[in-house]
Amino acid sequence: MPCRFFSAQGSCRNGSDCNFAHVIGEQAPRPPICHVFATTGNCRFEERCHYRHEKAAEPSAAAGGRGRRPREFRGDGGDGTLTPGALCKYFAAGHCTFGARCHCTHDAAAIEAAEAKWLHERHVPEKPLDIPQSILPTPQAFDLVGIMDFEGKEEVIEFPLVLLRTADWKEEGRFHRWCRPTAWGQPGSHTQSSREHCNVRSTAVPFSEAFASVCDFLRDKGVDLDFTGRAGEQKKGKSLLLCICGNWDLKSQLPKQLNLSGVGACPPVFLQWMNIKDFCLNFYPEATAKKVKGMKPMLNFLGIPLEGEHHIGMDDVSNLCRILTRMGHDGASFVPTARFVNINETRGFSQPGGAVAFLLQDRVTPGTAGPR
Ligand SMILES: [Zn+2]
Ligand SMILES: [Zn+2]
Ligand SMILES: [Zn+2]
Repeated sequence: MPCRFFSAQGSCRNGSDCNFAHVIGEQAPRPPICHVFATTGNCRFEERCHYRHEKAAEPSAAAGGRGRRPREFRGDGGDGTLTPGALCKYFAAGHCTFGARCHCTHDAAAIEAAEAKWLHERHVPEKPLDIPQSILPTPQAFDLVGIMDFEGKEEVIEFPLVLLRTADWKEEGRFHRWCRPTAWGQPGSHTQSSREHCNVRSTAVPFSEAFASVCDFLRDKGVDLDFTGRAGEQKKGKSLLLCICGNWDLKSQLPKQLNLSGVGACPPVFLQWMNIKDFCLNFYPEATAKKVKGMKPMLNFLGIPLEGEHHIGMDDVSNLCRILTRMGHDGASFVPTARFVNINETRGFSQPGGAVAFLLQDRVTPGTAGPR
């Protein structure tokens, strides 16, 4: 008679003393193939993985076409951008559709540790590679640059920000919140509310709360949230230029999220920004020639190694800080690349979006900037 443990899991704690037959040919049906291993050649679960580690043969029609991983094996809420083993930003925000099948980390303690570690780090200014140290710093129009990056698709799930002083490129402080989307309702109310899907330890707050906190954080640092540096404005504190990678965060997602979250007022400082990609193209002629259009290509172009995990907001912001300070050392004077046309009247957003004026040439055309 075959051993049902050996048949089911390929092993049995009784080993050779087992009274039942350990028959290799009569094992349970083979588990399905691990799509993380099949596509990337490794899987963080190694031999503990519940799926079969085999290199993929021809992509089957059932797997959704050429080289595509089926949705259910993606560990990042389905956007397919994170390395297996990276922390799961959806679980960090409170809920991951993939539950136990997620290949990203659902270890609440590890997620908390990663955030605490990032919040305790301090940006070290990037040294210029080929500019003499004796060159005087370029005069800057703004006292501070705030590098920020939203993560999430429908709604913001992560909001990191680092403030750098333009006088010496030292850090003035940093901010981070995991955000719980309004569509998820209260913690525990999600349809998939098992322990594998829901992170009961998540520190995520509603976006409305995160936005109020970031404004408080900026005011604490002495920032004048009403100042945008346009003619006729009186500065009543430190001036701040927000910097993002692309336009999406402040052009599309912030207005949308403020509406969803019922936030009526948005300080003018959030209604203009510097798109670091547009700025890079304008500042380095070689970047335009080489069509440098994303964060990774910018890092490559400047010879700065990527640190951490692309598409984890905290790591993206750290990498963007390195790009920005390198440009600062190379003599860049940072200016806004875009602002809402109705910035004068807009204190909140009655409609998501609104017309945006782009202020530099060589802007990265939408749709060619690669996936976020
Ligand atoms: Zn695996
Ligand atoms: Zn997950
Ligand atoms: Zn990001």
